[in-house]
Amino acid sequence: MSKGPFFFRYWGVRGSIPAPGPATARYGGNTTCIEVQVGDQLLCVDGGTGVRLYGSDLMTRLPVQVTFLMTHLHWDHVQGFPFFTPFLVPGNDFHIYSGHHNGGNILDVLKQLMAQPAFPISMDAFRSEVNFDFLEPGDALTFGDLTVRTMLLNHPGGVIGYRFEYGGKVFVHASDWEHPAEGLDDEFVEFIRDADVLSVDATYTDDEYEGRSGPPRKGWGHATHEAALAHADAAGVKRTILFHHEQTRSDEALDALSAKLFGPDSPNSFAIEGERVDLL
Ligand SMILES: [Zn+2]
Ligand SMILES: [Zn+2]
Repeated sequence: MSKGPFFFRYWGVRGSIPAPGPATARYGGNTTCIEVQVGDQLLCVDGGTGVRLYGSDLMTRLPVQVTFLMTHLHWDHVQGFPFFTPFLVPGNDFHIYSGHHNGGNILDVLKQLMAQPAFPISMDAFRSEVNFDFLEPGDALTFGDLTVRTMLLNHPGGVIGYRFEYGGKVFVHASDWEHPAEGLDDEFVEFIRDADVLSVDATYTDDEYEGRSGPPRKGWGHATHEAALAHADAAGVKRTILFHHEQTRSDEALDALSAKLFGPDSPNSFAIEGERVDLL
């Protein structure tokens, strides 16, 4: 029997751009960052602005060894790294995996983020070990008893979905992903099959996606709430958490959508910044 804990925690749940302020205070305004802990191994998916908060948490328990898994390299998934304080402290060890997205990789992007004239401190200021690894979507990574399967998802420039399997439990994080125009994405359904918890892109309402409220969002690389739930249903997922909230979506709007989309006994929900979900 694999040893617990196995949990993940949202440090950022917002898509595209940070959206702080009183209207988003409960669900949170930071962009995407998900801490995953398996036994005593620390992992983290993406480095949006939420990674600054994860860094503050890690600073209370140094030294640390963390494996980062990048979904892709869009701003909302990398923008917090220049403010991730543990990089600046000696004694820590970081390993950052990314795919080669659109010919670029995480090292190129970090170098560009941390360079004049846009930012005063370069990567030369890092005092921890920070190593970079590259993966091909479809690769499976193993860390002791943890297996992490990967899949290339439908998103402009491509994105990698991660499926964590440990101790008989499965957690899948699939952001940013767009469903097909009609029917189901069969390969995606197999990837999320029987997950205990699925954290999935669900950026738009049907009306927004179809262009009945603002411009049509087809082809922008994100799913609707309904499509995300339909795929989870087809795959026998036990609990679905809708993630990558659209930047204008207020707490009030997310509450109203919850009432509309989830039945009274539903285990499903919208992701909340700071929320920890335990699998083991
Ligand atoms: Zn995104
Ligand atoms: Zn993206």
